Amino acid sequence: MKFRTLDELLQLCEAENKSISEVMIENQAEESGRLAIDEFAQMKQYYEVMKEAVHKGLTENTQSRSGLTGLDAQRVMKVVEEGTPALGGEAGRAMAYALAVSEVNASMGRIIATPTAGSCGIIPGVFISSQERFGWSDDALVKGLFCAGAIGYVIANNSFVSGAEGGCQAEVGSAIGMAAGALVELHGGTPRQAVHAVGLALKNTLGLICDPVGGLVEIPCIVRNGFGAVTALAAADMALAGVRSVIPSDEVIQVMYEVGTSMPEKHRETAKGGLAMTPTGKKIMDELSKR
Ligand code: SF4
Repeated sequence: MKFRTLDELLQLCEAENKSISEVMIENQAEESGRLAIDEFAQMKQYYEVMKEAVHKGLTENTQSRSGLTGLDAQRVMKVVEEGTPALGGEAGRAMAYALAVSEVNASMGRIIATPTAGSCGIIPGVFISSQERFGWSDDALVKGLFCAGAIGYVIANNSFVSGAEGGCQAEVGSAIGMAAGALVELHGGTPRQAVHAVGLALKNTLGLICDPVGGLVEIPCIVRNGFGAVTALAAADMALAGVRSVIPSDEVIQVMYEVGTSMPEKHRETAKGGLAMTPTGKKIMDELSKR
């Protein structure tokens, strides 16, 4: 890749008058030795899987094997469609879709890791609900996935994208940053605004620990995806309105690295701390071990 930081990515975009997704498509094709059109076609398939996961999560039984989670997306969707959701319908829909995909993951269904399975709901939740709302074409959304991918590439190379390495800030946090930046581009914002959205979003999840109850990617992972989708919408709106990440986004990514490396092992996907070690978390773990 011709960039390693968001600042380098931004410089490329501004020098060549291209969007983040255009720069990413070119770079990825160069890196893989494949045609850009083939890269695009593959990403389009991934987007189809995301759409199928949303649909499945909203219409089928997503009870997980552990019995701990499932069908919450459908509960939220009912309130969005028939009730008076506190959030409002649009954000509520993004949240419900994110929950849907995460529940499909927990019930062993097919998802796309964005960037990981634990955080697989946020990008589909934001993208598919926005597509329905604004009538964007599939191709526009697929381009958006390349933008998200460029942001994820930078985060992965300068910090982490896995809970075992850097806590949940690295999984759910990264996904929120990726979704927020891409959403800015989809709305016609500049690459600079998209980069600000990443910094704004990441700041909100710094320090978030990884503490899955029973070691399963269910509690608190699923609801964090729902919250994550809403945060991504908020970060995109702030950036589009001209709010800047005063601490540059690359520096925020460095903070994520610093916080992740100093995070105790018990808060990095080991299920030895946090929510996993509450009295209820321990009881659940105990019951699961007896099965
Ligand atoms: S709590 Fe851990 S396993 Fe769950 S989504 Fe966050 S990083 Fe992933």
